Amino acid sequence: MRPFSYQRARTLQNAGDLTGAEGTLAIAGGTNLLDLMKLQVETPETLADINRVGFAEIEDTADGGLSIGALATNTETTVHPRVRSDYPVLARAILAGATQQLRNKATTGGNLCQRTRCFYFTNIDQPCNKREPGSGCGAIKGIAKLHAVLGTSDQCIATYPGDMAVALSALDAQVQIAGPGGAERTVAVRDFHCLPGDTPWRENVLEPGEMIQAVTLPPPVRGAQLYRKVRERSSYAFALVSIAAIIEMNEGKFTRADLAFGGLAHKPWHDPRLAETLVGNAPSSELFDRAADLLLEDAQGFGENDFKIPLTRRTLHAVLEQAAEEAA
Ligand code: SF4
Repeated sequence: MRPFSYQRARTLQNAGDLTGAEGTLAIAGGTNLLDLMKLQVETPETLADINRVGFAEIEDTADGGLSIGALATNTETTVHPRVRSDYPVLARAILAGATQQLRNKATTGGNLCQRTRCFYFTNIDQPCNKREPGSGCGAIKGIAKLHAVLGTSDQCIATYPGDMAVALSALDAQVQIAGPGGAERTVAVRDFHCLPGDTPWRENVLEPGEMIQAVTLPPPVRGAQLYRKVRERSSYAFALVSIAAIIEMNEGKFTRADLAFGGLAHKPWHDPRLAETLVGNAPSSELFDRAADLLLEDAQGFGENDFKIPLTRRTLHAVLEQAAEEAA
């Protein structure tokens, strides 16, 4: 790890001023950043500790939804009574994502901003356009088992590694962002992460000096909420494919089908055409195939990860079957 200086932000304004400076990174739980610093993937001159600027509350919103502060830990979120009763898909996704020790430190904001676990990105001896623009992408013709099959570019095929954001995408949660000079804006989780395109180093829409304040969930939904994560081993591992599903049924037909996918792309993947295909129809293998055809029509494997395409189809079938049964 390279030497760095440490400053503690006392207020939101102070945090924005510190993190807006070149060479400064914000640190909260540090569960991803400290690993990257030890590997010399991240070499900040200064760390700005934002743990004391507030935004750790989990509270009801006026419309019956829930606001989860950026600095609420993943443990606090999963044990919150309203998360457990009204948004179980979120609790399930977080519980599938990491060990208890990590959940005790990891925060909402940090979880959203975590970086890819691509082997070439975390190994500074390897080419990686994300870490070193223009150096090439080692994964495209290399070790790509965990890599993306949707939304890739010829610059980068990395995946967003998290679970929490997949559930937040299915829930259509909103990210509340504070900017310099007291500016605030709201971005849907579905639009928060970027595809790699020609700028694979840009992973989300945060600008310098901006910070996540909270994530807000809509009023509770009825029906079944599932999170299924397929991984190489049953203990903690990143998803090969994961699916967050919020399904409502009425008189044997889908009336709601909000789905989001992890492990497939540089962002949690949400395709609105799936709900359009499913809603109004009764569950059947043919219907699930139609949804999978749409989801995967542009999917492209890179050798080692070709298996993800049929795996996603099978997992989607299984999730829709189970959710339809539970929601009936
Ligand atoms: Fe780097 Fe992306 Fe290629 Fe991985 S897939 S080596 S993160 S450019």
